[in-house]
Amino acid sequence: MINYLYQEKNWQSQLSDLITDPLELLEILQLSPEQLLSGAILASEQFKLRVPRAFVARMQKSNPFDPLLLQVLPHHLELEEHAGFVTDPLGEEAANQLPGVLHKYKSRFLLTLTGACAVHCRYCFRRHFPYQENLPKNEDWLNIKNYLENNPDINEVILSGGDPLTLSNRKLALWLERLASLKQIKILRIHSRVPVVIPNRIDEELVSLLKNSRLRVILVIHSNHPDELDDVTCAQLTHLAQQNILILNQAVLLKGVNDSAQTLIDLSHRLFDAQIMPYYLHVLDKVKGAQHFDLESDQINQLYNEVLASLPGYLVPKLVREIAGEKNKTPLYGVSTF
Ligand SMILES: *Cc1c(COP(=O)(O)O)cnc(C)c1O
Ligand code: SF4
Repeated sequence: MINYLYQEKNWQSQLSDLITDPLELLEILQLSPEQLLSGAILASEQFKLRVPRAFVARMQKSNPFDPLLLQVLPHHLELEEHAGFVTDPLGEEAANQLPGVLHKYKSRFLLTLTGACAVHCRYCFRRHFPYQENLPKNEDWLNIKNYLENNPDINEVILSGGDPLTLSNRKLALWLERLASLKQIKILRIHSRVPVVIPNRIDEELVSLLKNSRLRVILVIHSNHPDELDDVTCAQLTHLAQQNILILNQAVLLKGVNDSAQTLIDLSHRLFDAQIMPYYLHVLDKVKGAQHFDLESDQINQLYNEVLASLPGYLVPKLVREIAGEKNKTPLYGVSTF
């Protein structure tokens, strides 16, 4: 039944039929309601459960520790307060220039066109970000255009989240056209988790939109575990890669989900098989409510060294942390004095 939905339903109807009730999710996975310790329901009120059925279909039944489930199931530990875990760990509110715009890095300009995501990841650093007050309206385009023209160093626009691939193809086409009309913009980058959680999102209309743009298009997907990349998902992504769209992956290192070298190695191989290159491995941003995913730096070092020793260099994602106010992501590897 779930597999049927997964293959046949178009992405719009999948997006309007997300699982938002933790008890329904547990029932589908043949897990008992006691799996939700007291506090989990409150946690899900603060940051709603939201997960597509196509993604749930890849979770193992009767396994409360399934690595995909742990990323989406509200947890009572989210309610705990921990020193150093805050609501805006990256200081994004301070970097906000215009509605929907973040310009922190020299040549790149980040544009948020929607606050909506297809899935709510419990570790998300934007879980407390006030999106709704901060989206560009149609008439803001002129201000954005002005801003870009006044910053000629910017040659790449990044559509990020929310998740830009929750937008209709029509709306994406409009923004692609606007951005392509500025000579200084060479690259359009799309950061999205949708192709992983709803692979049907890569429909023919989107493929032709991206491949026919004047801009060089890069899609950065977000997959943390090889179980997320089943055959259907990989086939969709490979199809896109074959149209000359560069596809990269970023992952977040998460306790209980992918904190084993073998998992990370398998993830890199799986990505490569689908013509996707590993890009970043982020250490967790210290966002309030996500402290139970955090790892000790010793353990991170040991893990990463094992990954380095096991993979060719091109399959090793760059281990990075984002530090508020820095002009780039901060590398956490290969730092030496010479
Ligand atoms: C991560 C990020 C980028 C992109 O950085 P790359 O290192 O080029 O991937 C751009 N702008 C902001 C605000 C970011 O957080
Ligand atoms: S912005 Fe990305 S990480 Fe955060 S909830 Fe949305 S899809 Fe998940």
